[in-house]
Amino acid sequence: MKMRRWFSLSATLSYALLAIGQLAGQSSSLLTLVKTNRLLDPRSGSVLSPAAVLIENGKIKEVGAPAQLQSHAPAGVRIIDLGGATLLPGLIDSHTHLLLDVIVPPEAEIARHSNGTFAPGLLLAVAESPAKRVLQGAQLAREDLESGFTTVRNLGHSGIDGDAALRDAINAGRIPGPRILASARKLIALGTYVQSLNPAISQAIIEQEFLLVDSPDRARQAVRQNVFYNVDLIKVTVGDDISVPELAAVVDEAHRQHLKVAAHATDTASIQTAIDAGADSIEHGNQVTDEQLKQMRDKGIFLDLTPTFFGRFIMKITEPSIVMSPALRASNADSAARTQKRYPELVQRVLKSGVRFAAGSDMCWFYPGKTRGQASAATLVNLRDAGMSPLDVIRAITTNAAEMLGWQDRIGAIEPGKFADLTAVAEDPVADITELERVRFVMKDGQVIRNDFATNSANR
Ligand SMILES: [Zn+2]
Repeated sequence: MKMRRWFSLSATLSYALLAIGQLAGQSSSLLTLVKTNRLLDPRSGSVLSPAAVLIENGKIKEVGAPAQLQSHAPAGVRIIDLGGATLLPGLIDSHTHLLLDVIVPPEAEIARHSNGTFAPGLLLAVAESPAKRVLQGAQLAREDLESGFTTVRNLGHSGIDGDAALRDAINAGRIPGPRILASARKLIALGTYVQSLNPAISQAIIEQEFLLVDSPDRARQAVRQNVFYNVDLIKVTVGDDISVPELAAVVDEAHRQHLKVAAHATDTASIQTAIDAGADSIEHGNQVTDEQLKQMRDKGIFLDLTPTFFGRFIMKITEPSIVMSPALRASNADSAARTQKRYPELVQRVLKSGVRFAAGSDMCWFYPGKTRGQASAATLVNLRDAGMSPLDVIRAITTNAAEMLGWQDRIGAIEPGKFADLTAVAEDPVADITELERVRFVMKDGQVIRNDFATNSANR
């Protein structure tokens, strides 16, 4: 627990409300026993079968054989029987954007008015009322939770304090959603993301979404501005316009505030800046070299893989929403073919290097026909197509992610003392990782969010 939290009035109030909410929701039964056929421990890969989890006041009290736990539980314990399901820890999406829901623009707009598919959607989001935006975020947060993501790390693009406000509303029991680690405004150098804005209002637009870093002093000030909104970590975008001393100032100030630093870095030079400045995680890391992976391993820096555009994924998102010319279709297929080789190669080198890794969806897109949770799960399953074993995929979004967040004492595994955040799927996810796209049971804090198994048995 971070000391500064104890001095924060809003955080203290949140905890008090959370406690009241839990009492109201669980007054009839503080003890719950979840029984299931199989329980997967992602860390060891071992399976306990049959298995049971005893839950008290939102936390895991005991894990073991059903008969043994039932004998410890008092009469009247609430029993949830998941039948033949496989129980997993609650999933962690360590890189998401709950306050961004970009619709891929029409081809003509991409060609004439922007440098890519991201910019018009981003500007639209920034121009919207923060109130409207945070309510959209509330919907996406609920959808993430319903798909089994009981914890997410929101890395920027959320207005000045949108993700922090969303986190507090969820913690207060006002709306359903995952645990959120909020980073508020992303630290960037001028010229990243938005360019050529109306000069009369450009500063005001940029400050809705970003904090500019152009010196070590400004870097420290930016961290403190985010601390004012009670962030859980700092997100910074690293390009060739941010120097090592500037980024080192971000890291030093963040660490003084007991906050980790997640650094967006994709090209080799930016990744080196992030390593040299001592960032805690490198997001994306597409062009990381073997030598850099070794440096990261030795310094304990996490690589947060974002398999968002692995294979043909972006095609799946764009095809239903825009009419494409044969030329655009061909160029998209071309880049898909190129990444088809690049990402498996990256994943193999990461696995071989021994660097600590996690994975995040980086979802910020409207994916027609899918909820945000379904879309996020689908991106993470892409790791399998890049050659990652199902068990490593599961580790990347449970135990490994918890360590990257610094929350390994509370989430990421089904162990006594941790939050009762659980998911379950019908079949064996190690045999078929796409099971993660069909999470049928979700529990957060000991409260059932979804239980399709119960619905099925009632209908039979
Ligand atoms: Zn991102």
